[in-house]
Amino acid sequence: MYLGHDTEQAIAVLVDLINTGPETGDPERLPDLEALRAFTAHHHISDIGPMTKSDLAEVHELRAQFRKLFETTSDEQATTELNVLLGRSTATPRLTNHDGYDWHIHYFVPGASIGDHLAVEGGLALARVISEGARDRLRVCEAPDCARVLLDVTKNSCRRYCDSRTCGNRLHVAAYRARQKAI
Ligand SMILES: [Zn+2]
Ligand SMILES: [Zn+2]
Repeated sequence: MYLGHDTEQAIAVLVDLINTGPETGDPERLPDLEALRAFTAHHHISDIGPMTKSDLAEVHELRAQFRKLFETTSDEQATTELNVLLGRSTATPRLTNHDGYDWHIHYFVPGASIGDHLAVEGGLALARVISEGARDRLRVCEAPDCARVLLDVTKNSCRRYCDSRTCGNRLHVAAYRARQKAI
């Protein structure tokens, strides 16, 4: 499954964003503006103005909305959620090749708030995933004590676990130990 570089990139940012939330089972990883600044720097999120406490609150709210898209069980449900999100955002497509990146399209309004930026870029990337018939590749990790999200881009659509806490590995080890015991 290849959704295109820009889409996969935008979804990777979303996955990371959602996985900073306490819903994952881990403590909040965006507790303050400093953490939010580090997040935007890490993901090279460009063209955003200075951030305030209200930006942080907006990002937390958006993060919860985005998470729902990974938990939906039908295209209709996902589309309803997504269109609410997209309806709130403003997009102005521009071609750019800033900071040594190849030509790519920015949809956010230059200087948009971090919330608008994420809503536009993340929202459109999710719209592409759904329109490609790939909504079921937006998943929640199946490890028992983990609720991180992931995008499955494997050929056979076989990815079940997130990689952030090596959930898949831990389960393999557990299964191995169980087998050993059984012998
Ligand atoms: Zn860019
Ligand atoms: Zn996991």
